[in-house]
Amino acid sequence: MFCHQCGKPLPAGSNFCPSCGASARANVFAASPLNTMYRPRALRMMAGVCAAFAVRYGWDLTATRVITVLLGIVIFPVMEIAYLVAWMLIPEEIPLMPQAPFVPPPVAPPPPPSNPQAY
Ligand SMILES: [Zn+2]
Repeated sequence: MFCHQCGKPLPAGSNFCPSCGASARANVFAASPLNTMYRPRALRMMAGVCAAFAVRYGWDLTATRVITVLLGIVIFPVMEIAYLVAWMLIPEEIPLMPQAPFVPPPVAPPPPPSNPQAY
């Protein structure tokens, strides 16, 4: 567990950061030592960039998307470029559960060899 404010390690069970005094429980996404952003798989509409910012900073996801689209129109093409840059920089969410292994469908048995004698 690391402080979401200053990034210093927190003693186990502490409610406040001894370095900066921030609440240790304020941010449920502060489990990462680097406090990095990620693009959630479940919330994304396009690349998950809006969802990444909304989750990271506690913004309303719908409002974030609306503002992103509006800014994309008003300051075109700055927002579009920023979106693409953020898409490249913000890593994909690491799935908590490992993906189920791919099981190929059973192969159909080959057709029986045709026997010209049967006709
Ligand atoms: Zn701190």
